[in-house]
Amino acid sequence: MRLLFIEDDAMISDSVAKGLQPDGFSVDTVDDGAAGLLALKNHRYDLLLLDLGLPRMDGLAVLSALRQRGEKIPVLILTARDAVADRVKGLNAGADDYLVKPFDLQELTARIHALLRRQAGRADALIRHGAIELNATTHAVRVDGAAVSLSAREFTLLHALLERPGAVLSVPQLEEKLYGWHDEVGSNTVEVHIHALRKKLGAARIKNVRGVGYMMASAA
Ligand code: CA
Repeated sequence: MRLLFIEDDAMISDSVAKGLQPDGFSVDTVDDGAAGLLALKNHRYDLLLLDLGLPRMDGLAVLSALRQRGEKIPVLILTARDAVADRVKGLNAGADDYLVKPFDLQELTARIHALLRRQAGRADALIRHGAIELNATTHAVRVDGAAVSLSAREFTLLHALLERPGAVLSVPQLEEKLYGWHDEVGSNTVEVHIHALRKKLGAARIKNVRGVGYMMASAA
């Protein structure tokens, strides 16, 4: 999952980016509102973390511009403004949730998972596809009831494929899920991780659509 964090306090954005990494989240950070809007135009993100007090363009203005553009990305406001009026303004401007600074990383992680579930139209963390069961919160994966141990990147790829089981995801689409701006993307890395995934899950469970990308085999 790839997240954008618009935050002008580098200490906070760095610690959040690092703190979310073990959970399989790749977090890009920008430190002003205008740069944030541009990043959202140029990249596909699964969720936006948004500070309100920002240089150049205030967080609420970013949010309004985003919603006016018709973007439905889930938005979680992280702000020191704990006044009720500010929270209400944020929610009215199209935010999905908010957290007041200072916040606990575990609570942030739980709220992110909850928003992503809601976005995907699920009430719980479990995704089932045929014999495969994936828990988006605990990262537990089972095939025919037996636990399978996946690396963080293998998990991210499987999660992305399971979120849209009828769709073929291209290699660049899968790369976007795996890597942020600061990561170096080696050639063939998606293929390498898919190869490992197939070995662990059973080769027939993930289909390679030649020249297009990868998709889950039908659940039947
Ligand atoms: Ca700020």
